[in-house]
Amino acid sequence: MAKLLEGRPIAEKIKEQLKEEIENLQVKFKTMPTLATIQVGENSQSAIYLKSQKKLAKDLRVEFREHLLSAATTESELIDYIGKLNQDKFVTGILLQLPLPSHINSKNIPIHIDPLKDVEGMHPENVGQALFGKMRIGSCTALAVMELIKSTGVDLYGKEAVIVGHSEIVGKPVSLLLLDKFATTTTCHIATGQRGYLPTHVKRAEILVVAVGKPGIIQGEWVQEGAIVIDVGINKVGDKIVGDVEFEKAFERAGYITPVPGGVGPLTVTMLMRNLVEAAKLQQEGLSPS
Ligand code: NAP
Repeated sequence: MAKLLEGRPIAEKIKEQLKEEIENLQVKFKTMPTLATIQVGENSQSAIYLKSQKKLAKDLRVEFREHLLSAATTESELIDYIGKLNQDKFVTGILLQLPLPSHINSKNIPIHIDPLKDVEGMHPENVGQALFGKMRIGSCTALAVMELIKSTGVDLYGKEAVIVGHSEIVGKPVSLLLLDKFATTTTCHIATGQRGYLPTHVKRAEILVVAVGKPGIIQGEWVQEGAIVIDVGINKVGDKIVGDVEFEKAFERAGYITPVPGGVGPLTVTMLMRNLVEAAKLQQEGLSPS
């Protein structure tokens, strides 16, 4: 039977470290980090995430500025708006709430955010830093996944890691970060599923990270005995929230497994704040004469 990998206790520890770092920033540079979030139109999905961001910002005494733009905002108007926040010296980090209205292509936006203010780690410059193993600001979800794996104390060197899903926000950055730890990585995607090879890959995973958004796509019996299973998926089934992995069966076989909800989710917003603190340090290092 697996050990449950819960996000909240790890998030609490990181939160204490962040409080200390924020105090140090205040003493050293007389500044507190400010997070500016942009939302285009009202959205119930982002409202939940926004609430947890606000709560954590308050706990950490980080200034939280909300910018709500009309649902009719065009892509170029949004880019102009971001440009103004890039120039605002009181803004430390810029966060774009997703989803955006369908007339805006969300993939076109990250490049317009100042890489030093890109608290979601999606600017190509920050993505590139990850490629060179020098990442300081990275995808919040990918960082959350790595913290959960780290908490097991398992050495990743040479381990078989299988990542299911290859999105820019989760699957690809997780693959890079695991590769950077010398895990042997396999990244599965829609074509893997279509060829029927998903079980073959999943069965040899010592580390399994699943970020697809399809409930039960990973059958519990595919999970290797003792594997670390990180389920990133969030799916609403009836009135329940479930992950992508068949939890009960996987729980019997895995060494460690994240619950959904309560695994990756609580850590993601903490990683956002860690990115904000990192952004503040990078900006101050740039300005500091030393
Ligand atoms: P996404 O952009 O839709 O990506 C899903 C990925 O799954 C794609 O790479 C897709 O491949 C792949 N896929 C689809 N069907 C497949 C199949 N049958 N076999 C193998 N791969 C398949 O989603 P995302 O943003 O990465 O999010 C994934 C899930 O994680 C969602 O449930 C989301 O809600 C959740 N999530 C949770 C957090 C958190 O903090 N806990 C954060 C972010 C996301 P193709 O692109 O080739 O179709």
